[in-house]
Amino acid sequence: MIELPEAIVLARQCNEALRGKTVESVMVNSEPHKFAWYVNEGKDYHQLLYGKVFSYSVNIAGYVCLYFDEAQVIFHDGVILRYSDAGVDHSNHQLLIRFTDQSCLMATVAMYGGLYVTKKGIVPTVYMQASLDAIDCFSPQFTFEYFMTKANEKLSLKAFLATEQRFPGIGNGVIQDVLFKAGLHPKTKIKDCDETKLRLLYEKLVSGIREMVALGGRNNEKDLFGLPGGYEVLMTSAQLKNPCRNCSGTIVKENYMGGSIYFCPQCQPMKNV
Ligand SMILES: [Zn+2]
Repeated sequence: MIELPEAIVLARQCNEALRGKTVESVMVNSEPHKFAWYVNEGKDYHQLLYGKVFSYSVNIAGYVCLYFDEAQVIFHDGVILRYSDAGVDHSNHQLLIRFTDQSCLMATVAMYGGLYVTKKGIVPTVYMQASLDAIDCFSPQFTFEYFMTKANEKLSLKAFLATEQRFPGIGNGVIQDVLFKAGLHPKTKIKDCDETKLRLLYEKLVSGIREMVALGGRNNEKDLFGLPGGYEVLMTSAQLKNPCRNCSGTIVKENYMGGSIYFCPQCQPMKNV
């Protein structure tokens, strides 16, 4: 799943890999996927991009945005992006942009994901607009005071961090490690956290994202070249067999709010809940 660290890393890698390339053709949904989302079913994608030259790419609120002259390509959520300088030898993809030098940018969708091609400046979904209206955690404007404007004392910390686009690009993957590093249980309610704890959570969120970006993304996600990121995810299914890094206790997995949570009951005790 593309979360903020991966969006930043992928955008940086596209800037290097696609520099100066001209689009030769665009193929849409060659392997139909029920939960691959397009604008107008992708009917205009080839026409919008044909002959256009890549200019730059950037993360915008957890979305990977690529600009080709006056057209834009936006990827989100469960899109897997791959660059190949030797073309692809299969048709199992949801969007394939081929360049005149026969290199390709290929996008496949795992569970669900957005692949939007439009004229520059269009916001393709209301969800993206909500993300654009927020300040992302990688931005210098993301202050503790701003963080607290999103707080609602009824929410659990998982709900606070990972829902409603309060924090663009932050999802259930990233927050498990952030909560572990802050020593806070995902089900703890905001009303049960004093300011010291909320400041610590803010600091671990900001420093956690920066660390993930600096190391090229998380190691359970792959980059533009199919390589795992260098940040070792601590709280994930692959780590359940290992003891907690802090206390050597057992890491616990539970289902909560439509997804899995991972926590150490010793390091992240749940109080008053
Ligand atoms: Zn522990």
